[in-house]
Amino acid sequence: MHTAVEEAVRLLRAGDVVALPTETVYGLAADALNPAAVAKIFEAKGRPSYDPLIVHIADKKQLDTVADVPEAIQKTVIQLIERFWPGPLTLVLPKKACVPDSVTAGLPSVAVRVSSNPIFKRIIQGLEKPIAAPSANRFGAISPTSANAVFAELDGRIPLIVDGGACMHGLESTIIKIEPGSPKPMITVLRPGPITVEDLKLYGKVQVANRSVVDEATEAPGQLASHYAPRTPLRLLSKPSDFTPEEGKRYALMSYRGEEKDGYLDLADFEEIMVLSPGNGKLPEAAVRFFYILRTLDQLGVDEIIAEPMFEHGMGIAMMDRLRRAAMKF
Ligand code: AMP
Ligand code: MG
Repeated sequence: MHTAVEEAVRLLRAGDVVALPTETVYGLAADALNPAAVAKIFEAKGRPSYDPLIVHIADKKQLDTVADVPEAIQKTVIQLIERFWPGPLTLVLPKKACVPDSVTAGLPSVAVRVSSNPIFKRIIQGLEKPIAAPSANRFGAISPTSANAVFAELDGRIPLIVDGGACMHGLESTIIKIEPGSPKPMITVLRPGPITVEDLKLYGKVQVANRSVVDEATEAPGQLASHYAPRTPLRLLSKPSDFTPEEGKRYALMSYRGEEKDGYLDLADFEEIMVLSPGNGKLPEAAVRFFYILRTLDQLGVDEIIAEPMFEHGMGIAMMDRLRRAAMKF
C-alpha cells in the first residue's frame, strides 16, 4: 500500500507532475531540475513558456543550491527568510546554473520560496530535489484552493491530486525583489500576497510595483496580462453609484462584509450574494474564501459578477490586485 505522499514522490522522481496542497493555493509540482518534467507543467496548464515558475526548496539552508545571494543584500535576505520562511514569501534572486532556463523563462533570476504546508514538506523532503510549482489551474484561470477545484481545472491532464484540505491563506505568495539602498534596502513587491507591505516595512523601504508598467521581459512576466479570470464577466465597483442593473440581465454579488449600510446589497435583484467576511470584514478571512467564492459564482451562469471593493491595506491590496486583473479580461 502506498500513501498519497509516497505516490507523489514516486511520480515526481519519474519526471511526472502532481498537484499538491500548499499554504497559499494548490500547486502543480514537478522536479525543478528536470526540464522534461517542467515541460509537463506548461503543457498541463496551457501556460506560455515566457511565464516563469516559482521554485520551492525544502528549507532555508538550501537557498544557495538554486540562487546566489548578492553580498549587498545578504543581511536583508537573511532577516526576511528567518522571519517569513517557511511561509508565503517568494524572493527573486540571481539563479544558479543548475536551474533550467525553462523554469525561469530564460531570465537570469529565479523566484524561490519554502512552503509551510506539512504535506508539501514531506513530499519535497522525500524527493530531495527542488520543486517547481505554479498554481494548479489552467493558465489565466482562477487559482484552486481545494483539491476539488484542482479536479475541476485539470481532471484528465495530470496523474495525481494530493488532497490536503482547504489552503490556509487562499492567495498566491507575495513575490519581492530586494535592491541595496541607503539608509535602507529597497524591497519591491512584484506580486502582492499574504505577506503584506506592512509586514515588509520592518526590513526596508517598500514599494509595490505598478503592474501595468512592469517590464515583461525582465521583471515579472505573466503578471501583466489579464489573469485570475472567471469565465463570467466580472465588474469591480469603487462605489455603489457606479452600477445600475440592465433590464433582463442576471447578476451575482461578491460582497465584502455583507453589510446593508455599505450600499451594495440592494443594487440589483442579485441571483446570489456571497460574502467574503460576514460582518467584521477581516481581510485574512476574506482571503481564505476569495477564490472559492469567485469560482462558485462563476459556475452560476449569470451574465455578470459584481464585486464590492475592499480596503486597500494588508491582504486587501492583494485581493484588489486580483480583482482588477480579473476584471481586465472584459
Ligand atoms: P505562480 O503561477 O503562482 O507560480 O507564479 C509565478 C509567477 O512568479 C510568475 O507569473 C512571475 O510573475 C513570478 N516570477 C517567477 N519567476 C520570476 C523571476 N525570475 N522574476 C520575476 N518574477 C518571477
Ligand atoms: Mg498562477
